[in-house]
Amino acid sequence: MTATTFDSLSPLDGRVVGTFPVQGADEVAATVDRARRAAEEWRALGFSGRRRALDAWRRDIVAHLDELIALVRAETGKPAGDARLEIMLALDHLAWAASHARRVLRRRSVFPGLLMLNQSATLGYLPYGVVGVIGPWNYPVFTPMGSLAYALAAGNAVVFKPSEYTPAVGVWLREAFVRAGGPADAFAVVTGLGPTGAALCRAGVDKVAFTGSTATGKAVMAACAESLTPVVIEAGGKDALLVDEDADLDAAAEAAVWGAYSNAGQTCIGIERVYVHTAVAGRFVDRVAELTADLRAGVDDAARLGPLTMARQADVVRAHVADAVAAGGHLRVGGLPPEGAVIPPILLTDVDERSTAVREETFGPTLVVNRVASMDEAIRRANAVRYGLSGSVFSRRRGKELAMRLRGGMVAINAVIAFAAVPALPFGGVGDSGFGRIHGADGLREFATAKAITRQRFRLLTLTTMRRRPGVDRIVDRIIRALYG
Ligand code: NDP
Repeated sequence: MTATTFDSLSPLDGRVVGTFPVQGADEVAATVDRARRAAEEWRALGFSGRRRALDAWRRDIVAHLDELIALVRAETGKPAGDARLEIMLALDHLAWAASHARRVLRRRSVFPGLLMLNQSATLGYLPYGVVGVIGPWNYPVFTPMGSLAYALAAGNAVVFKPSEYTPAVGVWLREAFVRAGGPADAFAVVTGLGPTGAALCRAGVDKVAFTGSTATGKAVMAACAESLTPVVIEAGGKDALLVDEDADLDAAAEAAVWGAYSNAGQTCIGIERVYVHTAVAGRFVDRVAELTADLRAGVDDAARLGPLTMARQADVVRAHVADAVAAGGHLRVGGLPPEGAVIPPILLTDVDERSTAVREETFGPTLVVNRVASMDEAIRRANAVRYGLSGSVFSRRRGKELAMRLRGGMVAINAVIAFAAVPALPFGGVGDSGFGRIHGADGLREFATAKAITRQRFRLLTLTTMRRRPGVDRIVDRIIRALYG
């Protein structure tokens, strides 16, 4: 019996989107137990059986696309077009994971080396068993899909704890999986608040995939440490976009504005800072200001920016903007955010690098543009925060060089966020942005354990015997000198 429930409220109008149980430790543990039994069945399907099930799930999502778009919009407040885009990317990852799992994870032969020529050596990747997925609310389909699709394709059952702000989307995704014929307990959902997520970490899962804030990521890791449960942490970011003096300024401005304000800035890989070369800063900032001033935030269908999903996030945005202005920053577009969750986009320029608007994740519709004398300075400033998720570089001649020097797991040159839409590329960061990778072959391997096997084909020089004779040691001595000297 569940003692309590909670409501998911739409940030658009406050209506109740759905009511869900607050599941406690016992219920979460029981769900993980059922998933463990289902994991056997799921694993036994093999790569091709799982591919069929995941493809059927994908088609079912497409068949009910409008329903899912409406639900994402209702729970997050984002415009329907943005919800559609998010779902498209998630589907691309689902398709990729399903169709590449065999190639990446199947058992293959490896060269045994000269010393072990009498052995055949093979390497394969086995599923962990049950993976706990803790997801955020900002992209309630795309973000968890980076773990769900890859963990399932690798042969694991999953127990998904969606954010308390987007439980309906989480439950919907699982219903679609079951409707499409997937084994019901191989993809389970538990609902509740933070403690339900904490319970999932302690419920005997074999791995936890977490996406959310750095602070909660640390709590998740601490809980997992009690049982040595491995984790992959996708935490926040403070991504920078660099604009070189030879950049296409129109394209860079367009990208900065989209990177900063789409999804009302609630994007882990969103652009929160720009470092622009002084030689082109004036023209660049004018163009960004023009594009920013054109955007409207609201709860109506035509608004380009929706309200913040989590109303209390507005306090963080206000505090960061106030801090930037107090330290001498210039409010070029917008003002101190009004009360409420609808925040018109804010463009700040020449902000002190020590201000929270430059150093901390804002997760709202703000953009800081600072000018730099050289791209070396841009790199130095961009890399001076604890986060290291991703970034963007606009340059005609030095794109690759600057991308290599930008700290983080992913960089887009002459675009923003492009890497997240390439399923073959791994996604993840360094430092306070977390560790481990989802997406791509690395993402599949993240949800599998390597299993190495050797098979002796014939007897050669037997070294691992207590009866080894001095003559063999002399041969070993010659081998060492011949091969490694
Ligand atoms: P959290 O990190 O608190 O939440 C992320 C997920 O973790 C949610 O499902 C949450 O559940 C769950 N959770 C909360 N506490 C625990 C716990 N102790 N153990 C296990 N799971 C837990 O992020 P918030 O939603 O509170 O957002 C706060 C800030 O985090 C944002 O302002 C933003 O800066 C950052 N963030 C970054 C994201 C990214 O994509 N990198 C995504 C989301 C947030 P519940 O929602 O039910 O509390």
